[in-house]
Amino acid sequence: MPSLLDLRLCQEDAPAFRKQLGENEESIAALETTMKALIKLAKAGVELANELSAKQSQLAAELTNFSNQDGDPIVVTALQKFSKSIADVERSRNMLQSHIRDMFIEPMEKFVREEIGPVKDMRKRFEKASDEVDGALNRYMAKKTKDTNIEEAAAELAIARKDLHARSLEYSIKMNDLQARKKFEFMEFILAYMYTDSAFYHQSYEFLRELDPYMRDLTGLLQDSRQRHDEDTQDNILFQNACANRKLSSYNPLSTADESTEAVEDIANATNQLSSPKSSQKSGYLYKRNSGRVMQTWTKRFFSVEGENLVCAPARLSKFSREEEPESSINLRVCTIKAAPNADRRNCFEVISPMKVFTLQAENEKSMMDWIQQLKSANQAALNFPKAHGSEHEDGHHTQQNATNTASNSELLKQVIKMQGNECCADCNSPDPQWASINLGITLCIECSGIHRSLGVHVSKVRSLTLDRWEIETIEIMLQLGNIRANDVFLTSSSQSQFQPITSESTRSEKAAYITEKYVTKSFVTLPDEAESMAVALWSAVEETNLVEILRQLALGANINFRNEDEGGCTPLHLAIKRSDDICTEFLLQWFCDPNITDDNGWTALHHAVQLNNSRLVLTLLKRHAKADFQDKDGKTPLDIAVELQHVQSVTILRLFAFDRSQNGSPGANSDFGFREAMSSFAIQNATFRNSHPASQSNVDLRASVPKPILLDDQNANLLRRSDPKDRICLLGLLFVSSVSFFTSLNMERTYIMVKPDGVERGLVGEIIKRFENRGYQLLALQLLTPTKEHLEQHYADLKAKPFFPGLIQYMLSGPVVGMVWAGKDAVKTGRKMLGETNPLASAPGTIRGDYCIEVGRNICHGSDSVESAEKEIALWFPQGVADYQRNKSLTQLIYEN
Ligand SMILES: [Zn+2]
Repeated sequence: MPSLLDLRLCQEDAPAFRKQLGENEESIAALETTMKALIKLAKAGVELANELSAKQSQLAAELTNFSNQDGDPIVVTALQKFSKSIADVERSRNMLQSHIRDMFIEPMEKFVREEIGPVKDMRKRFEKASDEVDGALNRYMAKKTKDTNIEEAAAELAIARKDLHARSLEYSIKMNDLQARKKFEFMEFILAYMYTDSAFYHQSYEFLRELDPYMRDLTGLLQDSRQRHDEDTQDNILFQNACANRKLSSYNPLSTADESTEAVEDIANATNQLSSPKSSQKSGYLYKRNSGRVMQTWTKRFFSVEGENLVCAPARLSKFSREEEPESSINLRVCTIKAAPNADRRNCFEVISPMKVFTLQAENEKSMMDWIQQLKSANQAALNFPKAHGSEHEDGHHTQQNATNTASNSELLKQVIKMQGNECCADCNSPDPQWASINLGITLCIECSGIHRSLGVHVSKVRSLTLDRWEIETIEIMLQLGNIRANDVFLTSSSQSQFQPITSESTRSEKAAYITEKYVTKSFVTLPDEAESMAVALWSAVEETNLVEILRQLALGANINFRNEDEGGCTPLHLAIKRSDDICTEFLLQWFCDPNITDDNGWTALHHAVQLNNSRLVLTLLKRHAKADFQDKDGKTPLDIAVELQHVQSVTILRLFAFDRSQNGSPGANSDFGFREAMSSFAIQNATFRNSHPASQSNVDLRASVPKPILLDDQNANLLRRSDPKDRICLLGLLFVSSVSFFTSLNMERTYIMVKPDGVERGLVGEIIKRFENRGYQLLALQLLTPTKEHLEQHYADLKAKPFFPGLIQYMLSGPVVGMVWAGKDAVKTGRKMLGETNPLASAPGTIRGDYCIEVGRNICHGSDSVESAEKEIALWFPQGVADYQRNKSLTQLIYEN
């Protein structure tokens, strides 16, 4: 930045002054350029933002539209909230844009116009004055010695000089002024811009944060729906299979009737849910005789007994008759029903009403007898009940069958609310409490819940009975405790009588005082006469899963973290974990027991949970900050133990957590953990699955794998399916994080390349390896192997149905093969290109097949056709895993740009 101009130098107008002036001019010109660019960019930004805003608003409107179509209240509420928040964000974006216009663009334009603009005029005036001085001086200096006009010239010079001085001063002052204002006024514009921008993002964040509970609700709902759908699909398949297995005879109208009934019942049993709607009412197709004048016709109609009516509905619309025949019904009350053995068709019976005789034909005798039976009993029933219920369906006939699954937790929650004592607030007795304290196991009115919340979570953890999602363990805790039992713990002392119990009428401060006294000071808890060891009592309470007793001991002041020296230094949490006691574990964690205390072997609760391979407990502990890298006496972490025991679920969870942690960059993140490691646990699983002796973990490298296998892995899917919804969210989140981050990493792949028996025998192995080496791919595994038939059949499983399959297997069995794994960018596709077309004649010269073979059945080599099958093939051919080594970094840099 140029220095300020010294105004005293204006008059002398020395070159140094001019130089300084020049620097100032440049700096102002640069400022002008910058400001103009900023104005232009900001304007373009405003325009684009308006465009974005318009689209976003349309999107919000579309969401609202959709929400009006969808009936599920959670979906509707969520969509409307989403839509509203997006609209709010857009409103605030519009505000931002107008602020940017008012606070940034316009002031800057004004500055350029009114402040920088005039400088140019001043400069022109200054230059002109300067020229005039030069001219006058020249004239004055050029006067000959005897020239008498010298005084005139001198006067002219004086005038010019005075003018130049004035211009110079004016110009310099303006420059200094601008330089000064650049420091504050210009920066103020920038600051205004930043403030406006950050205000917008802040406000948007607030809008979107409000969506959190709705997003969580929706997540839960979606998981439930998906699960239900999966179960339904499963049932549908079962049902379909059962139907497919039905004997043909059960479809045959002449087959003995019992068989078909049995078959239907079998299917019903096989599927539970999908049994044909069990109505006691009879229905089905019958042929009905129409007695025309000329000839009789029989038409197929659908008959059903509904209450005391026999309803006749037309069969499917025939292609020819456009008009729909109306439903008709016959009141059975006034009918006689009898078989019609003399009709001209088989299996006929008659429904005789006072007006008309209906002759109906059933498919077989059994069906006919059944109809007669049903109609007669309907007729009897109608006669016995003078006022029958018309044609109403039975009560409950319409209730949906599977509306229960999502509701199982809310059913339990209802039980909590219905528990004796829970119908009123545990503290003030107000009716219909909507809140609960989950570590105290009590229900609370809204006011008391607020007071509980203010006591802090170490005293009371408040949750809404209606608004929050509940986990099964927490509900269990509520069911085991409840207001009566909890009050039995906290209100035992006689000193209680000195305090006025609170009621719904009490003021908030009275309530606060009482509640604090009750749960924080614990004034109403009678200390036992004998100082019986609370620790021992707490221990046996955990042993019995007796939450009331645990709560009592905690209220008395038992140390939740005490180490039982008689039990190998275990804490109550260790005990609960060892007993796989979800509820006690949850309860102890609710009371903030320390999950990282060790027993005499240096094992934390997590070590024990991992040893049991109890994924639920492992997840629970990790979420409550159990340390995954805690080393026991032998230096083993829970992960080491899980790997040692081949407890894949635990390995998976621990690795995913570690990965998540390293992604979030929290301190202590161990670079040894990570996505690759997480992936390799799945590879271990594959290896053990295919090959009964497990591979050592270090041999397994899945650097080049894609996220797909991790998401599709059976083990993983099982884990997800079996886990609790809350765990699922967490797992899914982790899987998501890992897959996303993997997507963004290099497009490195692995491929399985195999030289077939003909290639091996012809001595082309070296040639093929050479081509992949030359190309720059990295060799991870290589083996000469004579495969078994089963092995090959597994390898070519997708071709099993092809006519050439037996021949292919025969060819492949004709000698040893060389299998290898090559890794590198785009290895699968490029590997295929290097091999050439499957048909060697179609392969371009220069490709392996194009250079070395002619026939499809002798095409010397195989290459994976997709990343997914590559991973499958690698697992099949190299169950022991492949090498994990980094190539020399400079070599890598010679092959890859980054
Ligand atoms: Zn209350």
